[in-house]
Amino acid sequence: MKKTGLYKKMLTMAVAPILILGLSLTVFCYTRFTNTIYEQAQEDMINVARSVMLAYDMKYSGDYYPVKDASGNFDFYKGEADITNETQIVDDFKKATGTEISLLYMDMRVNTTFAAYDGTRFTGVCTNEDTTEKVLGKGQTVKYSNVKMFNDDYLLVYVPLENADGRIIGMVEVARPSTAMTVSVVHAVWPILVFALGFMLFGAIVSYRSTKEITNVLSKLQTFMNKVAGGNLTTELDIDVLKRTDELGEISKSATSMQKSIRGFVETDPLTKLGNRRFFLNQTDRVITRSQASGLPFSIAIADIDFFKKVNDTYGHNAGDEVLKAVANKLKQAMTSKGFAARWGGEEFVLCFDKCDMHEAAEHLWKTLESIREMVVSTEGFDIKITMTFGVVDGYPEKIERLIELADEKLYYGKQNGRNRVVTTVEAAPEKETEPANEEPKAPAKKTTSRKKKTETEDNK
Ligand code: GH3
Ligand code: MG
Ligand code: MG
Repeated sequence: MKKTGLYKKMLTMAVAPILILGLSLTVFCYTRFTNTIYEQAQEDMINVARSVMLAYDMKYSGDYYPVKDASGNFDFYKGEADITNETQIVDDFKKATGTEISLLYMDMRVNTTFAAYDGTRFTGVCTNEDTTEKVLGKGQTVKYSNVKMFNDDYLLVYVPLENADGRIIGMVEVARPSTAMTVSVVHAVWPILVFALGFMLFGAIVSYRSTKEITNVLSKLQTFMNKVAGGNLTTELDIDVLKRTDELGEISKSATSMQKSIRGFVETDPLTKLGNRRFFLNQTDRVITRSQASGLPFSIAIADIDFFKKVNDTYGHNAGDEVLKAVANKLKQAMTSKGFAARWGGEEFVLCFDKCDMHEAAEHLWKTLESIREMVVSTEGFDIKITMTFGVVDGYPEKIERLIELADEKLYYGKQNGRNRVVTTVEAAPEKETEPANEEPKAPAKKTTSRKKKTETEDNK
């Protein structure tokens, strides 16, 4: 079976859910971890902002306030101290926490660790309106993820900066680079990713293997059915397929039973219930192969009822049929444990002796002939007796048709030389003392009158 439609469908059905599940699990875990880690980081950053405020409170007592200088610029004071250029605290916190810290008067940075490559700090730079409104207007603590600032992405928090009376004077901004966050997310997520990938791979391999196994079984079944459909009734289905205990095993058993039934119909002769010519050819093929392998002999015989036409003519066709059935039974019995018999056609039978040479076979056939001679077929009101002639040959690795041809030559010789005998050689016949063959069937036994009368009438003509 070509691995097309069903194979692909089954593979998709088996593997796709695993891939989807694996990918969903990965995406879900990544998102959940990112959110959790970001939330946790933002909480930490809020605490950093509060610590910064505490540090300023501890170092400088008093309120925050702006002082306008002569040129109109603002300086930012806390208590007595001008903290506009006081970067010690923010720098220390940056060093300790790895975050960027800014102190803002209203929305403007007055102290910040954000600096250009040349060290120039980005003081004076304002926050956006949204932040200003939420922090300064509503007193909220604001958190952002992935905000672009000074050419980098940051996680941001803004905490309101209050004086002792609760008035908001500015804010503390804490920023952590997102790239660092991504690294920690990946760090946290990779074991789950590896697990998910492993799970996917394992599931995919298991599904692939079972899909392959099932399609292989189906393929073997299909090949078997195709052979049977093509007339090969001796083909055998893989034993592993038959041994299966699932539905496929059941289907396989049904298929072989079907093959057996068809073979029975095709290889059985309906009248005598013996195997027919096809049966004989198939079976002898095996015997020849076996004999070749084992070196043991086999022999073939052909048997023909003497003057059978006259049986028909004298007693009728139905009686002839009964005689054929009786002869078939005799031969079947005779061949038990010796080999097998089959109906070759008409009133001719073929016999195969397994592990037995021609002379042994001939000896056995003489005994069989004896019992056939003694047999009385009572049918249609008549008691019918017959004789047979046999031609027998030694088997050898040759086409069975050729062996039958040779046996037939001996049979012909027997017919020419008195019938009612077993012929093993055409030079010396008869081989045993024989009764003379019936020239024609003896007068019917007087059991019924109708058939007899008819025969007599015909004879009188
Ligand atoms: P010989 O001893 O030389 O073999 O003579 P014979 O009469 O047996 O041979 P012949 O070939 O002349 O006749 C065979 C007969 O067998 C002719 C045919 O009508 C008959 N026959 C063939 N098949 C059947 C069958 O199935 N049923 C019956 N009743 N007769 C059959
Ligand atoms: Mg004949
Ligand atoms: Mg005959």
